[in-house]
Amino acid sequence: MPFAREYGGTLATRSFGGALVSRTFYARGQTGQQLLYGAYQALMRQVALGRVELLCRRDLLELVTVDGVARGAVCRHLLTGALEVHTAQAVVLATGGYSNVYFLSTNALKSNASAIWRAHRQGALFANPCFTQIHPTCIPSGDAYQSKLTLMSESLRNDGRVWLPAMAGDERPPAAIPEAERDYFLERQYPAYGNMVPRDVASRRARELCNAGHGVGPGGRSVYLDLRDAIAREGRETIEARYGNLLEMYERISGDDPITTPMRIYPAPHYTMGGLWVDYQLMSSIPGLFVLGEANFSEHGANRLGASALMQGLADGYFIAPATVTAWLAGHPTPAIAVDDPACRAALERARGRIAALLQVGGRRPVDAFHRELGALMIERCGISREASGLRAGLQELEELEHRFHSEVRVPGSAEGPNPELEKALRVADFFGLAQLMLRDALAREESCGAHFREEHQSAEGEARRDDANFSHIAAWEFRGDGAEPLRHSEPLCFTALQPSTRSYR
Ligand SMILES: Cc1cc2nc3c(=O)[nH]c(=O)nc-3n(C[C@H](O)[C@H](O)[C@H](O)COP(=O)(O)OP(=O)(O)OC[C@H]3O[C@@H](n4cnc5c(N)ncnc54)[C@H](O)[C@@H]3O)c2cc1C
Repeated sequence: MPFAREYGGTLATRSFGGALVSRTFYARGQTGQQLLYGAYQALMRQVALGRVELLCRRDLLELVTVDGVARGAVCRHLLTGALEVHTAQAVVLATGGYSNVYFLSTNALKSNASAIWRAHRQGALFANPCFTQIHPTCIPSGDAYQSKLTLMSESLRNDGRVWLPAMAGDERPPAAIPEAERDYFLERQYPAYGNMVPRDVASRRARELCNAGHGVGPGGRSVYLDLRDAIAREGRETIEARYGNLLEMYERISGDDPITTPMRIYPAPHYTMGGLWVDYQLMSSIPGLFVLGEANFSEHGANRLGASALMQGLADGYFIAPATVTAWLAGHPTPAIAVDDPACRAALERARGRIAALLQVGGRRPVDAFHRELGALMIERCGISREASGLRAGLQELEELEHRFHSEVRVPGSAEGPNPELEKALRVADFFGLAQLMLRDALAREESCGAHFREEHQSAEGEARRDDANFSHIAAWEFRGDGAEPLRHSEPLCFTALQPSTRSYR
């Protein structure tokens, strides 16, 4: 993978939010993309060698378990609509995060939580669902019909200065606002870290000032990210060479040239640190079910620093899982079950039942309308900032919304053939359950910790206040049936080499 190099040949580094030193390798503004190309190439090599068979365009709808052990999956073929049963000696989920619960997020639209949510319903514990990262540097939503948000790399904060008009309600264009009337609020509040504070801190501060009427752009829901000073200091060519592709992307989406006018950015859901609970072998609480990458809860805790996610995905997928899955299989040499095994038929029936129920509703509102409402609810109640009464209200609103979804949604078409609306409906139906768990988890965690900010638990300066005495643990939730309260287990965190401390970015 072509990481950037210094003139002398050594790997070049950049700094990311939460760090004052440059220690992150990168590939222009395309690190993630280049890592994916590398991963795809490695995968396709295995396909060419005949070691991997790819079955594309399938959505996993149900997990098959026999005596509590994962033995297969039911998938829907997205082109034919056929439900397929795949049996195996072990199942590995690498199905990504669940930011799309929030409707607008930086994730691909196909990122759905169905695989992990269905596994959770079959007995896999779900850990820390409320730990969700809202990334500060995204291109703000343009209009009500938008279905996805675009991330601007955090690396832009190395050179870009974040600011807002000092006067609330100031509608002058940025160039007309003199220096003395600009509030470089991150530099002002955090002299030590400035624009490089961690993502959760930058997002909170931006939201606060926008709520106080200082925000710019449509609806006052964005802040400026300004390269002016960096260009004056280092020259336009240097900055363009450093961030060229990002600047081009921004201009294409917003219509503004970021070289001559500051970019507008706003926080957006981006990464989910929670996920299925796994042990050090990456096995979930269902024996034989392994969970890799963003789909599991491990590694990041309550927060996640830039650039660590792809490494997690690659480390899990390339280095840990092959060894641990092979070791598990060696100790459990059971032949694969038949596709007409009663457990497979039961899983197939569950999938068929859900599809039929959604197609039968025959309501008038499209799936997106409900998803949008769910997203707005979750951003408001369980977004950058949370508090107990809002979370309780959110649980009630969610119950009512889910009820309306199941009685008013319109899913056109049939179960046969391609039906993207049906795919969406299945996904959104699962998001309701997951959203409920996120709200419950946020309510139960009576502390502020990383990206989970409870307004009741903050210092006089508005910083997160942890409660290590009572919450230094992983919350792992057990599903106990529809309508039943899920059970919250806690797994204590043990620190040996390093003890947790509270960082100050000021
Ligand atoms: C815009 C953006 C930029 C990012 N930049 C960086 C970066 O620079 N550095 C970094 O470290 N991290 C970055 N991240 C985070 C990182 O990309 C993700 O955390 C990482 O890709 C997760 O890898 P994964 O393999 O676990 O899941 P994913 O890459 O999300 O892959 C999951 C796959 O499973 C499929 N899937 C989901 N549900 C189902 C189902 N039910 N049935 C079948 N298939 C299913 C999805 O379609 C997808 O193909 C970025 C994320 C985004 C969104």
